[in-house]
Amino acid sequence: QIKTPLCERNIRHAGEYGLNCSETSHHKTRHGIMVSHPFLNHFHSGGVRSRLALLVAACILPIALVAAMLVYIPYERERSLVRDSSISRTRAMVSALDRDFARIEAALLALSTSPFLASNNLADFHAQARQALRNINADSIVLLDASGQMLLTTRRAFGEPLPRLDYTPLLRRITVTGKPGVSDLYPGPLAGDLLVRIGVPVHIGGSMAYSLYATVAPARLSTVLSEQKLPLSWRAAIADSTGNVVARSHDVDRFLGRPVMPELLQRLGVSNEDAFEAKTLEGIAVLTTYSRSRLNDWTAVVGTPLAELNADIRLTFSWLLAATCAALGIGLALAWLIGGRIAYSISSLVAPAKALGAGDAVVVPPLYLEEAVELGKALTKSSALLHDANDALVHGEARLRAIIESAMDAVITIDENQHIVIFNAAAEAIFGYPRHEAIGNPISRLLPERFHDVHAGHVRRFGENGAASRRMGVGRIVVGVRANGEEFPLEASISHIRELGRELYTIILRDVTERVRATEKLERSVADLEEFAFVASHDLKTPLRAISGYVQLLEKDHGAVLERKAIALIRRAARAAQKLDQLTNDLLSYARVDSRGRSFAAVELALVFDEVIKLLEVPIHKSDASITAGELPALTGDRAQLVYLVKNLVGNAIKYRGEDPPRIHVAATLKYGQWTFSVSDNGIGIEAKHHERIFEIFRRLHAQREYAGTGIGLSVCRRIVHRHGGRIWVESRPGAGSTFFFTIPERARLAPWAM
Ligand code: ADP
Repeated sequence: QIKTPLCERNIRHAGEYGLNCSETSHHKTRHGIMVSHPFLNHFHSGGVRSRLALLVAACILPIALVAAMLVYIPYERERSLVRDSSISRTRAMVSALDRDFARIEAALLALSTSPFLASNNLADFHAQARQALRNINADSIVLLDASGQMLLTTRRAFGEPLPRLDYTPLLRRITVTGKPGVSDLYPGPLAGDLLVRIGVPVHIGGSMAYSLYATVAPARLSTVLSEQKLPLSWRAAIADSTGNVVARSHDVDRFLGRPVMPELLQRLGVSNEDAFEAKTLEGIAVLTTYSRSRLNDWTAVVGTPLAELNADIRLTFSWLLAATCAALGIGLALAWLIGGRIAYSISSLVAPAKALGAGDAVVVPPLYLEEAVELGKALTKSSALLHDANDALVHGEARLRAIIESAMDAVITIDENQHIVIFNAAAEAIFGYPRHEAIGNPISRLLPERFHDVHAGHVRRFGENGAASRRMGVGRIVVGVRANGEEFPLEASISHIRELGRELYTIILRDVTERVRATEKLERSVADLEEFAFVASHDLKTPLRAISGYVQLLEKDHGAVLERKAIALIRRAARAAQKLDQLTNDLLSYARVDSRGRSFAAVELALVFDEVIKLLEVPIHKSDASITAGELPALTGDRAQLVYLVKNLVGNAIKYRGEDPPRIHVAATLKYGQWTFSVSDNGIGIEAKHHERIFEIFRRLHAQREYAGTGIGLSVCRRIVHRHGGRIWVESRPGAGSTFFFTIPERARLAPWAM
């Protein structure tokens, strides 16, 4: 558990009040000290770096890819150009070869028409053939008979014995087709050298009598290759119809007569013209193109070394690769550097943030990022604010404690189990328990046993209804018990706080022993006085009535014999007795308001008004008064007293009239749960300075001569209104009439002291 300074303080205070810090620790969150954020929890410096590295790669690699494509597409185009041009070269080679063969064939055909052959003069033909060989691009001319017997050759002198040749495939073809033809490479019968033969049939008299041949050494055919003037590194070759090498640009001695590369042999079976990548016989990787003659199935092949063909693109690609690697390298290095700085800046703020949480001084090291610097500033500022707030809190708490300690009233805080957690000095004095004995004990200890259940229920209900504070018991006194067992009256209010996740109730108790005693005493003497006034005025009535009776008798029986002066005196005595009677009546009603009042019942104010009109019939008639009333409600109260109240106010309004006949209006309005009644007149009005005083007993503003009265009426009215839980006042200006207001709660209850 982290101990904030706040918490430590709480331990100190809580110790006094019986709290412990584990329960107060959530101050941390309430004051926002414990800052926790998933970003901080799951933070890895590598996270920033690897994300930046990813960003760099994501930016550079697609560009590199596009660049590679931009390089590759023209390369492909160039490659197909090379392909096409080398195929046309092979075609040219094939047609050159065909042309050479055709020329030799033509020369042989011309020779075959020699008259020496027709006349079977072979010796002369031998000479003619030797002669003709000079103009033919061939090594020898040979004549065979139909069976294949060599008859002559220009290589040997005429008449020398000559070998018999096998029935060669070419001879067979010539015999069958009767057309000229070209042989494949084969070893010559005389010297054993590899040779190629071009042969034509010799027809004499409609049938083939001989066949005439020119032999060509492969070396002659290689001129077809050299004529192409291919680059030295390129490979070229000519193969016969069986696919054996006849001529070759390189290493001809090694490969003469041997089959061409196997891939080419395969493809020759499929198509007459194509290009593909393969290795030459000596093992060089080349782009191979070939073309095959349609006349004699011979093939010309050209091989372009791939190394040469790809050299450019290889270079370009290497540059591209190098550039991409460099860009990636620089980007990643920057990502590493910047990521490191971001990570450093953020992780550098962890310690200040922790310090802020722990309430320590916040020291922010120099940071790289503007945002981090801002955050650092914010942390520093928050720390200062928190510090100030802590100070304020400390002072506030100290002040509060001082106030609680110096309070005259007992301040007791209890928890939801009704155990005491705070017990101030006044509580100690009032209840007589030292604090350390009170704290931790149930509050019921401070109440007489008979109230325990009721009290616990009160506190619980108060907690449940969610009110913030309330006086305990409406206007009622609760009873406490001191350490010495003495019971005493208390006034209590209770307030409720939900703090640190638990319910706390603070009860403020005032020892009202003295006041209750004084009130009781006062009430007793008031009651005595009232009783006295009642008895006195009541007892006065009988002698008073006797006096006025006797005075009247005196005038009646002896008036004739008495002097006028004596009669005047008798009349004055009668008036004084009458006034005294009025006074005792009024005093009696004043004294009766509380002590002889009746209990409250439903009262129709409209009926009260009607009764008042009836009671005041004479003065109304005399003064020609007009009295009106608005809608009047029904309420609970003492009917007789309400009649007295209204009668007095209306009576005064008639009595204190001005020049005009009185116009009096009685009205009632309901506001905030209480009725406000008004009795307004057009009478003489009252100066503002008398507005309060007229409600005091015996307070009169006029001499008896001007307006008769005892000065008791309004004070009785005030007592009646008070008894009904309301108040009474007047609004008036001299000459402008008066309006008397009084209020009565919608549901008047007997005031507690009047019960
Ligand atoms: P009393 O009428 O017997 O003198 P009250 O207590 O009824 O005694 O009235 C006290 C004084 O208040 C009266 O003397 C009078 O001066 C003044 N007063 C009462 N009602 C009115 C009124 N409606 N208009 C003017 N003055 C009034």
